[in-house]
Amino acid sequence: MLNLILFGPPGAGKGTQSEKLIAKYGLLHISTGDLFRKHLGEGTELGLLARKYMDEGKLVPDEVVIGMVKDKIEGEDAGLKGIIFDGFPRTVAQAQALDVLLNDRGMPVSAMVALEVPEDELRARIKERGKTSGRTDDQDDAKITTRIQVYRDETLPVANYYEAQGKFHAVNGVGTIEGIFTSLCEVIDTI
Ligand code: ADP
Repeated sequence: MLNLILFGPPGAGKGTQSEKLIAKYGLLHISTGDLFRKHLGEGTELGLLARKYMDEGKLVPDEVVIGMVKDKIEGEDAGLKGIIFDGFPRTVAQAQALDVLLNDRGMPVSAMVALEVPEDELRARIKERGKTSGRTDDQDDAKITTRIQVYRDETLPVANYYEAQGKFHAVNGVGTIEGIFTSLCEVIDTI
């Protein structure tokens, strides 16, 4: 199985590249941001709980996120080729929980692939996306700043966590969508 963590700051292009990777490698997409937005749209209790964190650009509490991912993985059938995790794990506690979940099922994380993009480029991309995405967290400078800060403080340590396992790979996330996709595939094909 190919279990990939697509890693990077908000606006790095994880969603865009995930779609292309899923098509090429036949993987299941688990995007915690998308799952929360789906819950929000359906007005579930989980969606309402997540909303106040998302609206502020803060992280939803670990136990909530982990429970949601566990449910999603458990709902999958045995014929799975692999999973691409997008926007998860975002804290070291989430990474530890994911390792337990996957190792228990004999399907450990294969690799983390990180998209590296400078901060000014991230801000420009998020603002541009905000014009059409309808996401309130994409439209406000203060919220964007909070998300980038939260990424630096809470999420970046997750890269070190997988680096220590020899599973970390970085790719330049600036360039054309196709060019970045090619770089990602080159890394993935060595795994
Ligand atoms: P982006 O990476 O572009 O900021 P996402 O769609 O991945 O956006 O996530 C949107 C919001 O959903 C985050 O700002 C956060 O509030 C919440 N969220 C998503 N994934 C997680 C996670 N793994 N842990 C905690 N909160 C999360």
